[in-house]
Amino acid sequence: MLIRIEVGMLETNCYIYSDDDTKEGIVIDPGDDVSKVLDTINSNDIKVKYIVLTHGHWDHIGAVDRVKVHSNSEVLIHGLDADCLKDSTKSLAYMFGINSPTITADRFLNDGDEITVGNTAFKVIHTPGHTPGGICLLSKDILFSGDTLFQGTIGRTDLPGGDHKTLIEYIKSKLLVLDDNISVYPGHGNKTTIGKEKTGFEKW
Ligand SMILES: [Zn+2]
Ligand SMILES: [Zn+2]
Repeated sequence: MLIRIEVGMLETNCYIYSDDDTKEGIVIDPGDDVSKVLDTINSNDIKVKYIVLTHGHWDHIGAVDRVKVHSNSEVLIHGLDADCLKDSTKSLAYMFGINSPTITADRFLNDGDEITVGNTAFKVIHTPGHTPGGICLLSKDILFSGDTLFQGTIGRTDLPGGDHKTLIEYIKSKLLVLDDNISVYPGHGNKTTIGKEKTGFEKW
């Protein structure tokens, strides 16, 4: 089961995926709206094993501490974005006059790692460029793309740690080589497919 909820003022997509057989699940980017996230988990009887952060920006991590406590799960993030969990300057929360949660990740993710819930395995794809520690998660015909790739556009690279050339390189070499039929679930906005995003990508 895959559920999308929009959270917070930037309407970040928080995804909750659960394995149909075991009900074991992962929460991706719980950026805000704790009660909405927890209600969804509870009403669907999902046993959250991991909280995976596609990157460390405040709009993706804002509720991570409380969702972790209430679901008794492990927090996973790429090491290069780990400081965002300690420092509201790094997560950019300070730009909005707020503090992001202070928390220690349970494990750091690296390119090629596998995260398993029930019978479903997700592969970690490191895609720096929006942030140094940005990742995507791939399972069969589903890609969670964070703020790396959106419907019709790509992630911002003008924020600290961003790099346009790097982002383009990684999207081309790691994402656009995937099967055209793969559904792409981005960090904001509507879902798309690899095939659709290949078309017109040259303009970036
Ligand atoms: Zn971001
Ligand atoms: Zn975002």
